[in-house]
Amino acid sequence: MATALSLLQTVFGYPAFRGAQAEIIDHVAGGGDALVLMPTGGGKSLCYQIPALLRDGCAVVVSPLIALMQDQVAALLEAGVSAAVLNSSLDAQHAAQTERDFAGGKLDLLYVAPERLVTSRFRELLGRSRVALFAIDEAHCVSQWGHDFRPEYIQLSMLHEQFPDVPRIALTATADELTRAEILTRLQLEDARVFISSFDRPNIRYAIAEKNSARDQLLAFIRAQHAGEAGIVYCLSRRKVDETAAWLTAQGVPALAYHAGLDQQTRAEHQSHFVNQDGVVIVATIAFGMGIDKPDVRFVAHLDLPKSIEAYYQETGRAGRDGLPADAWMAYGLNDVVQQRRMIDESEDDETFKRVSYRKLDALVGLAETAGCRRVQLLAYFGETSSPCGNCDNCLSPPKVWDGTEAAQKALSAVYRTGQRFGAGHLIDVLCGKTTERVARFGHDLLKVFNAGADLGDKQWRAVFRQLVTLGYLEADTHGSLKLTDAARGVLKGDISISFREEAAKPAKRAGRRAAFVSGLTNPKAGPLLDSLRAWRSTTAAEHNVPAYVVFHDSTLEAIAANPPRTLDDLRGISGIGAKKLERYGEALLRLAKEQ
Ligand code: ADP
Ligand code: ZN
Repeated sequence: MATALSLLQTVFGYPAFRGAQAEIIDHVAGGGDALVLMPTGGGKSLCYQIPALLRDGCAVVVSPLIALMQDQVAALLEAGVSAAVLNSSLDAQHAAQTERDFAGGKLDLLYVAPERLVTSRFRELLGRSRVALFAIDEAHCVSQWGHDFRPEYIQLSMLHEQFPDVPRIALTATADELTRAEILTRLQLEDARVFISSFDRPNIRYAIAEKNSARDQLLAFIRAQHAGEAGIVYCLSRRKVDETAAWLTAQGVPALAYHAGLDQQTRAEHQSHFVNQDGVVIVATIAFGMGIDKPDVRFVAHLDLPKSIEAYYQETGRAGRDGLPADAWMAYGLNDVVQQRRMIDESEDDETFKRVSYRKLDALVGLAETAGCRRVQLLAYFGETSSPCGNCDNCLSPPKVWDGTEAAQKALSAVYRTGQRFGAGHLIDVLCGKTTERVARFGHDLLKVFNAGADLGDKQWRAVFRQLVTLGYLEADTHGSLKLTDAARGVLKGDISISFREEAAKPAKRAGRRAAFVSGLTNPKAGPLLDSLRAWRSTTAAEHNVPAYVVFHDSTLEAIAANPPRTLDDLRGISGIGAKKLERYGEALLRLAKEQ
């Protein structure tokens, strides 16, 4: 009899379970209900796919996104599992055939859109079929307070009423305490076992850089660490998206734009290039990302500050789903804080909502300003305690902290003496003794603070002003003019001393990190075999009309290139090659290896 582990190895080609997978699969296969909270890329799908194969009948998987369903089914078919999808993208004839296959017991997994599942017609079909289990993916969609609320999800509680003996497993990557409770009550899962995994994504390296010239910084980052690799760059405005994509392309980085202002067809085309081809960078507003489960996104870069830690975590989480090293990189400056505050200020939201929004923004700014481990702070926000990670910018090159009491006093008095109506740029000119037209016009060259700060450079003053805002000694209005807060008095009087973080020196170039991660030989990234494997994968994927990663993941190709196989047996142990793929592609892989 097949066991969960033997299915993992033969069907999916993976040597071992990750985290709580084995326990969850055991529980659900045994007929238990479960709520699974696991970060993106944690491996949620196997938690219902393997029980589906172990139990009698067909598993019914509810999923809100058509593109996701299709990718999953394509991947299952590649692995030789009998799976199908029922959603609005099918014509009537095709749908009727799928329904017959389902009722006739020919399927192991059926993916269904929620609006179809709750129709009486489909329920009648369910009644005539043998259902192995119900899986409810993206279960947070049932939460009315969440950002992805789907009304049909509420009706899913009927599954339990109509089929009390069929086990149910609900899964999500985004659920704070409140949403979690809501999922359990709304789906009537009160008696379900709850599996909560750590939200840590250890393969993601977090870095937040001070913004000088964001575009150049981005280009340097891509060139040094991710040349030729896929990544997402987030910007706040559509215009900036368009400009950045065009500029990157002009610099030789193939980049495509994505935002709600583009027509549907262009958007679909750009998304499909990004998903299906190797090494495309997509520059996007936050309209992009939901439902993209491309596993080999090697970096997510932010040129603008997100709204909250939740948003930052969700967006950066799209990097490195395959578990290989990936980067979350952000450039951040005072203007970002001013801009986000202005957006909250000018929104139509009520006061309570605005207060919550300010608090969320402050938490993110705190993460950007911390001199401690980014991951520790990130996880603490989600209620997890951890110790310094060794894989974030602050751990890798700890920023120095310097006594900035005197600099803070100078900055604050420059604000005060100029009448609390100027932005950081002008104040820095005054402090550094620059006689600009503006400085002369307002007579600011006659002030005592004029030229009082020439010992620090422009860049350092910018960091000082930014930190005085984030520490709450200065307040920026919507135009960026700075005013003293009540707390500033203590600093000016000398009662409070202040330390600032000094911007970290540029981290050293880290070539070879990925190579070292993929166990084995020297750099497998280079080499003609890997190139020909990739080319073969592109052709094969195009022939089968599936994304390249559905054929094989990067990590699988890299493992093959690192240890060129001579026999089919050599391929058997490689992660990502199950029985079906070995049968289907084994010979082709051997031929490629031999040609080198
Ligand atoms: P999630 O839905 O939690 O974001 P997925 O189920 O898509 O994550 O899994 C993320 C990736 O990890 C997939 O490419 C999957 O094939 C891979 N994966 C899952 N479990 C394992 C495992 N035990 N060993 C190796 N790879 C795994
Ligand atoms: Zn760290």
